[in-house]
Amino acid sequence: MDPLRWVDDQLRQLEDADLLRKLPPPLRAAGAVVEIDGAQVINFSSNDYLGLAADQRLIEAAANACYQQGLGRGASPLVSGRSELHDQLEKRLAEFFATDAALLFPTSFAANAGIIPALVDRADAIYGDEKNHASIIDGCRLSRAQRHIYPHTDMAALEQMLAGGKQYRRRLIVSDSLFSMDGDLAPLPQLAALAEKYNAMLMVDEAHAIGVFGAQGRGVAEHFATEDPTLEQRIHIRVGTFAKALGAAGGFVYGSSALIRWLANRARTYVFSTAHPAAICAAGLVALEIVDSEPNRRSTVLENASQLRNQLRQRNWDTGPSTSQIIPLQIGSPARTMQIAQLLRDRGIWAPGIRPPSVPPDQSLLRLGITAAHTPQMLDSLVSALSEVREIVK
Ligand SMILES: *Cc1c(COP(=O)(O)O)cnc(C)c1O
Repeated sequence: MDPLRWVDDQLRQLEDADLLRKLPPPLRAAGAVVEIDGAQVINFSSNDYLGLAADQRLIEAAANACYQQGLGRGASPLVSGRSELHDQLEKRLAEFFATDAALLFPTSFAANAGIIPALVDRADAIYGDEKNHASIIDGCRLSRAQRHIYPHTDMAALEQMLAGGKQYRRRLIVSDSLFSMDGDLAPLPQLAALAEKYNAMLMVDEAHAIGVFGAQGRGVAEHFATEDPTLEQRIHIRVGTFAKALGAAGGFVYGSSALIRWLANRARTYVFSTAHPAAICAAGLVALEIVDSEPNRRSTVLENASQLRNQLRQRNWDTGPSTSQIIPLQIGSPARTMQIAQLLRDRGIWAPGIRPPSVPPDQSLLRLGITAAHTPQMLDSLVSALSEVREIVK
């Protein structure tokens, strides 16, 4: 008997439920148009919101850093992995976000998985939105703290939970700022008010929002600063990534210098993981300069998204609660979702179907990621392809 036979059984079950995921064909190039299986397709699958992943300035900075600093770092940051460029980028992040300090992680999945267990333990409690990213959920699990999950953005439910949990030693409220599947914003001013009222720590993950939201591109916390000017300083722990709008790779946390010193001591994914290549930091430095100097990129992506959302809504597509560059087309059944994705692909449009466990059962969707590199013609092609496809699957 093969001890791994259960894997075959499980895979068959996934396939029968239309939930088996297959690796997509490898993509060539990055940007609004990519090549799959030798065919050019318009890419709506990417989080490269500012169109920086293929930017020559990032690529050159990374290549030069590689020639000067080598590729692999060979050790974790506390040993000897931290290069001059890591140091520069952490200082630059602190300046960009106007915080005391920042700390780089290999990815922001690793950041969340390491930070949360460094903040809370068995005697403590976590309050999290039901739609938080998987990395936050895993961080919560690893922490062994008591978990309280509130319905999506439901502040009344959160307050009830907080009011009933005063026995804990420490409490942490944690949320995405821009939700990765629904494309809606967390009510950060209300979260900050509740954190204060109940003396809880507040942690916000801005992975999808940095570079896109806020007058200077600092994210949803800055976006809400117009109604709540002190909001950014009142979020104790803030997380971001270079992998999405910033076009590179790597995660980070920013906040007070005491917080950052603590996390450098206690976040296991920081302490026990090799520092990422200096080339990545070089690209990150350039990306932050571009966010500063080319604000038109963030207005373009939000303008593109709002035009597309309007066109889709006029044609009776259900775009859910989206108010951002992430636009879900709510389909429902996983089989139908994958059929639509395939028909779009036949028409030169790459838009991924999202199925459980990424979304709740029967809430499968096509997730459209809109970028500053999409032209009006590309958005029109998407809308007309969707109209054709609807005639076929109806
Ligand atoms: C994508 C995402 C991450 C993971 O970021 P990586 O740097 O790609 O690991 C973490 N948190 C949220 C909210 C995300 O959407």
